[in-house]
Amino acid sequence: MTIPSHMKAMVFEGAHKPLVLKDVLIPSPSENQLLIKIRACGVCRTDLHIVDGELDKPKLPLIPGHEIVGTVVTTGSDVKNFKEGDLVGVPWMGYTCGNCKYCKAGKENLCVNTGFTGYTIDGGFAEFTVADSKFCFKLPEKYANASGAPLLCAGLIGYRSYSMTDPNAVNIGIYGFGAAAHILIQIAIAEGKRIFAFTRDGDREAQQFARSLGSVWAGGSSEPAPEVLDAAIIFAPVGSLVPKALQDVDRGGKVVCGGIHMSDIPSFPYRLLWEERDVCSVANLTRKAGESFFSIAGKTSIHTSITTYPLDKANEALDDLRRGRLTGAAVLVME
Ligand SMILES: [Zn+2]
Ligand SMILES: [Zn+2]
Repeated sequence: MTIPSHMKAMVFEGAHKPLVLKDVLIPSPSENQLLIKIRACGVCRTDLHIVDGELDKPKLPLIPGHEIVGTVVTTGSDVKNFKEGDLVGVPWMGYTCGNCKYCKAGKENLCVNTGFTGYTIDGGFAEFTVADSKFCFKLPEKYANASGAPLLCAGLIGYRSYSMTDPNAVNIGIYGFGAAAHILIQIAIAEGKRIFAFTRDGDREAQQFARSLGSVWAGGSSEPAPEVLDAAIIFAPVGSLVPKALQDVDRGGKVVCGGIHMSDIPSFPYRLLWEERDVCSVANLTRKAGESFFSIAGKTSIHTSITTYPLDKANEALDDLRRGRLTGAAVLVME
């Protein structure tokens, strides 16, 4: 294709201001980068945290968006793993240094020199973007569209949380049934797990949604689990769910906290942790976990529940997310 000189982008110029539709220069890829024509980009709660000034020191001006689905247009001179026409996904983690002690230990998700797509690096609320090819994922054709966008953040983080549970765990509780949970449950059930979905008390709609996706039980998070759980994954940012989940898991069981933010965890009696129960958190992603996620997703048929918006309606999408007016994930569609 002939590459135009300019593109439309929704630009963030400072906290608490709406994004501004602009004509900006299309970036040219450096030696490790891909130039990508964007098909769709998901709108995530983290984008809302940036726009609302809750995550400090973003790049300014910034093009937000870190659930990018697109097609490779050109590649930098050193790119070996992608070629023109490939279907590509760009996630939140856009760069790690490879030199710090965490990178060297295979824990690049904890790198101290990370670059984040749509936060410290320009992202996908635009018609084109550039991205470091080493941090991009090849996408199966079936996910190279708007409904595949939520896999790039909610899907990846949900899967990484799940992969931290014991592979022998069968009964798994999920606390908070939103974007991450609705993708994860489909993979977990395909692997023979039995899912118990805990939602906000009285949220019949979310409980019905969980049952429709195959959970063996769905109820309010203050209800005791109907069976002993082998593991628990908490997506809701509610600290009081930690002792509650510890109460629900069996001896030796693990409670995985999958969110970036959580309210304070109230104190609890030691007996809830006794018998080798475990609590841990999940931060970012390793490329290795991402590759196994897309390999499993390629063999499964994951359905995502989405609401689409044109690029210039990004502010409306953010506002609908802010006000909880969405069922499923918001996705901007560019072509
Ligand atoms: Zn996200
Ligand atoms: Zn590093």
